[in-house]
Amino acid sequence: MPAVSDLARRLLLGDVRALARGIRLVEERDPMAEGLLRRVLAHTGSAHVVGITGPPGSGKSTLCDLIIECWRRENHRVGVIAVDPSSPFSGGAILGDRIRMQRHSGDADVYIRSMAARGHLGGLASAARNAIRLLDASGRDRCLLETVGVGQSELEVMQTADTTIVVTTPSSGDAVQIIKAGILEIADVFVVNKADQPGAPRVAKELREMVHSARFSATSLHGRQSRGEWEPPVILTQAVIGDHVDELVDAIDRHREMLSITGELVRRRAEQLRAEVEAIVVERAAERARKVLHGETMAAMLKGDLGSIDPYAIANQILEQGAEG
Ligand code: GDP
Repeated sequence: MPAVSDLARRLLLGDVRALARGIRLVEERDPMAEGLLRRVLAHTGSAHVVGITGPPGSGKSTLCDLIIECWRRENHRVGVIAVDPSSPFSGGAILGDRIRMQRHSGDADVYIRSMAARGHLGGLASAARNAIRLLDASGRDRCLLETVGVGQSELEVMQTADTTIVVTTPSSGDAVQIIKAGILEIADVFVVNKADQPGAPRVAKELREMVHSARFSATSLHGRQSRGEWEPPVILTQAVIGDHVDELVDAIDRHREMLSITGELVRRRAEQLRAEVEAIVVERAAERARKVLHGETMAAMLKGDLGSIDPYAIANQILEQGAEG
């Protein structure tokens, strides 16, 4: 397919229009996307992917804007995917609360793209993961993956990140919420933003205690990722005036170094790939089975004395046929 190979070639050269087209293909789950990814995968893996999540209004976009600024000062080329699981709008549309980041829109070395659920939540995590791969392949060595909220789909999206930042504020800062949402296990860095609001130091202190005790508790041993010697720092920021954001950027750097020195990066990415392959297999197997289910064979099987029909035997037959298909 010359169209795909040409697109891949241009994307690898850093062509922004090719990148935009590629991301649209993965978002729309276009059959061409798979071929494109196959052609660029060998050129991925060097970007550091930073996930940032937290409730709406906690200051994520403001923080992202400042992180981008720091990275640009260090001459990194930046890619941002802002995922909004609740919004039906997409296609690069500027979501209202993402406008803060748009001051970088004139900078060719900052590529910002919004992505929305469009009815299939499951596909969102995989679209975001593939979009990050394309950013990586196009030479963006620092990627931000921003999601709103702390629900299951956000957790799924965060599995793509090398470093996950969880943002809270004094008002949204009940520690119990964080434990309930399984956030403690995925966060590598905590930010308590809006340090100017009352209660911020208390929330930070509570979080520090929680992080510290979780490290030594049995539950953390069964967590998704082992952290080794890393204890997630809790950083108090006031994003609106840029206060302590340098500390956050520094924590991201230290985490990245830790990941590569300890071999944790490879372990983490292998685990992410395993989960990704599992998801693809489950999705494709279900798709094939569904085809047989809605086919004529199924209808034929359900004829005759219904009382004597063995549903397990039929299910097995369907699975076998699906596997052949
Ligand atoms: P997001 O929805 O998590 O991306 O949050 P935004 O970055 O859009 O910020 C939401 C609102 O909080 C905006 O009006 C910001 O100006 C404001 N905000 C961000 N950081 C701070 C802060 O440190 N203190 C206060 N008081 N407001 C902040």
